Amino acid sequence: MNDTLNNTMKEKIIIIGAGVSGLSLAVKLAEYGFDVHCIEASEQTGGLAKTFRRGRYYFDVGPHSFFTEDQTILSYVKGLLGKRLKAQPRKAKFHYNNRFLDYPFTIQTILFNMGLMANLKVGFSFLRQKLRPKIPLIGNETVKDWAINTFGYYLYRTFFKPYTEQFWGIACDQLASRSIPSHTRMNFIHTCLLMFKKTRFWRSKPSLMAREKLPTYYPDTGFGEICEHLLRQAQDLGVKFSLHSTVTGVKRAKDNTFLVDFLQADNKYHLSANIVVSTIPLTSFVHTLSSFVPLKVIEATQQLEFRSLLLLAIVTEKQAILGSHYIYFLNRSYNRLSEMNEFSTLTSPDKDNILVLEIPCYSQSPLWNLTGEELLEHCLNDLTHDGFLERSEVKKLFVERVPNAYPMYKKDYAESLNKVQEFINQQPNLYTLGRSGEYMYMDADRCMQRAFKLADEINKK
Ligand SMILES: Cc1cc2nc3c(=O)[nH]c(=O)nc-3n(C[C@H](O)[C@H](O)[C@H](O)COP(=O)(O)OP(=O)(O)OC[C@H]3O[C@@H](n4cnc5c(N)ncnc54)[C@H](O)[C@@H]3O)c2cc1C
Repeated sequence: MNDTLNNTMKEKIIIIGAGVSGLSLAVKLAEYGFDVHCIEASEQTGGLAKTFRRGRYYFDVGPHSFFTEDQTILSYVKGLLGKRLKAQPRKAKFHYNNRFLDYPFTIQTILFNMGLMANLKVGFSFLRQKLRPKIPLIGNETVKDWAINTFGYYLYRTFFKPYTEQFWGIACDQLASRSIPSHTRMNFIHTCLLMFKKTRFWRSKPSLMAREKLPTYYPDTGFGEICEHLLRQAQDLGVKFSLHSTVTGVKRAKDNTFLVDFLQADNKYHLSANIVVSTIPLTSFVHTLSSFVPLKVIEATQQLEFRSLLLLAIVTEKQAILGSHYIYFLNRSYNRLSEMNEFSTLTSPDKDNILVLEIPCYSQSPLWNLTGEELLEHCLNDLTHDGFLERSEVKKLFVERVPNAYPMYKKDYAESLNKVQEFINQQPNLYTLGRSGEYMYMDADRCMQRAFKLADEINKK
């Protein structure tokens, strides 16, 4: 597949990756009149925001719902999906100390549901920490430093340490405090500080906490409908797509344009472009640039890593299993369970329901290659112990492996990330975008916001 530049349109732009970031950018750039080609490794677009469609069973990459404080983005998504996008209240819980606490945590949850003993221990440990000198920071703040300094040792030991270490697979003192999502950090601090009547902090940071309280929306047959609609819109605007095509190299030609190599069904192809935007994991992207990346940038990239996610979707006829959209767990073989019928009963045939188990792990872990039956065996004791599901209630299993689900904020990640970003920023007409591309936690609405902003910037150049 050789390709010549089309002179009747604006410049040719290649977007690598067709998740929500790549698709949103493609739509906007095509509206501006650019000649856009999107190359996607998977057979299906949507990336982390896709819905797996297995026959008549639909489930997402863990629970997904749409929420945003940006009215332009909200109107845009409502316009895309129309009546298919339903508003629904967020129902989530956290399993802690053998109780199911409402999540995000509220003052009532902490005071009334955590139990008197736990409250006393939390309060005592919190006060003791406040009377002590803070743990001095050696280098960057870790989850351990942050949790002990903010809440005291009890909550660190019984809550933050087991949850964080189960989720990330490494010790709390090896993870930057940024690993705890900012809205969770703020919400927890707010709730605890309210208990101790120190509301000054809350007043200064309302927006981060407010995100967890925003109205949420869900499409009829899965979150992936958002990307499916974006794909259709992009195709209608003339964007070309190469699916099942893995980009292996991005080189600079002598005239400063780019040559993008990709593999499709073991055949090698290349396309040329004036501008390249990558939304694929930053680590993989730097690898594709190896023909002109300095060694120190490659070394910095080696310090960045993604945590992957294993999904086990269990089809069952049992209904109303969780009493909420999803529940987080400590000390279980999974870190979260979600129930698809709580999102939409159209995600499986009548009478059926899907329970989705999330198991964070590395793609080199022995767990990664387990079959559905083996994974069920791994998790069944916990499911039965908590009264969710018996073996006899399991009707069908699907396993999905999601590499690069979470950028890992290890203790010293910021230094390495800065080096990589500095290099990319120096390259004319080369951009990275999105959660995987920029190595930055963000939800789908933020991906769209950043994609639209980048399209504006490129258009104004
Ligand atoms: C478990 C979980 C729950 C979440 N819940 C929510 C939620 O409730 N609400 C919300 O708004 N957001 C949620 N998010 C975040 C949301 O999914 C992401 O912000 C968004 O999907 C990221 O989109 P992206 O396009 O930036 O990246 P990605 O989705 O990672 O897209 C990158 C694309 O690049 C492709 N690719 C990779 N390598 C190559 C290559 N070499 N060549 C070509 N293509 C390649 C991939 O296949 C992928 O399609 C959640 C994320 C996770 C993991």
